[in-house]
Amino acid sequence: MQTVVGVRGENMKKLKESLEKLEKRKDTNPHYRELLDIFGEVLILREKTGRNLKKDICPILDNHVEKKLSGGLPLIDFSRGDLDLAESRNYFLSLLKIAGKINEGETEGLIRELEEGRLDYEQMVRESFSHREETEDEEESGREDLVGFLIEESLRPVLERIAGRYRESIARSDWREGYCPVCGKEPKIGELREEEGARYLFCSQCGTNWQFRRIKCPFCGNEEQKTLSYFTVEEDERYRVDVCDRCKRYIKTVDFRKTQEEADLDIEDIATLHLDVLANEEGYD
Ligand SMILES: [Zn+2]
Ligand SMILES: [Zn+2]
Repeated sequence: MQTVVGVRGENMKKLKESLEKLEKRKDTNPHYRELLDIFGEVLILREKTGRNLKKDICPILDNHVEKKLSGGLPLIDFSRGDLDLAESRNYFLSLLKIAGKINEGETEGLIRELEEGRLDYEQMVRESFSHREETEDEEESGREDLVGFLIEESLRPVLERIAGRYRESIARSDWREGYCPVCGKEPKIGELREEEGARYLFCSQCGTNWQFRRIKCPFCGNEEQKTLSYFTVEEDERYRVDVCDRCKRYIKTVDFRKTQEEADLDIEDIATLHLDVLANEEGYD
């Protein structure tokens, strides 16, 4: 057992809360137990990695922050050439080892390909920031999902740290775009909060939340009531899928206002994977 003291207090508190919520989800959504178990290990490693980080992945000039945000530009531009990804790459290798518990052959192969230079981590990161092409092959798509998740997670500690540093500037900036103010990624999940149901989108790439119009598609900007709708499953109104019939995309929305629970959207994103499957089956991407 390790003892936990000092500056780590805040992060450890957050980690503890997340792990408690995760345990709860394992009971209410037992078919996601294995995935949630693995994710619990990821959360522990995420905290440790974040705590030991030495560098940012790129310089961010404080005096450009306000201007960027007011112009609708995310703080980090992943098309720039000077990203320092060494620490994230190391974390990625550790993540592959954790994932090996559910998918051994797959991750061993990836580790080998990375070590032998046949697979380029930086290129994988850059590709994850451009809209990916869907593959028809089910096995191939399963591998893509896993690798996509791990690539995203590998950058999370370093991006979360930057997001934390600029949280107040972001709140002040009144950012209202459909993509993340820190890293530019599109959200996959959001939540309704406060009595009046203010809508917040969540970036699982860096953990940032920002407020967004309730009736508007984050992806194409559509605000037309008749082409925006949502569906729920098994009458569970706490989870829904918002869909846009103009661009055919969807986003999951969590509404815990009735139960007064505070949602951990990382965990809810995993515990609602059936909603992604359903949305895809309904023709939304
Ligand atoms: Zn982000
Ligand atoms: Zn749309």
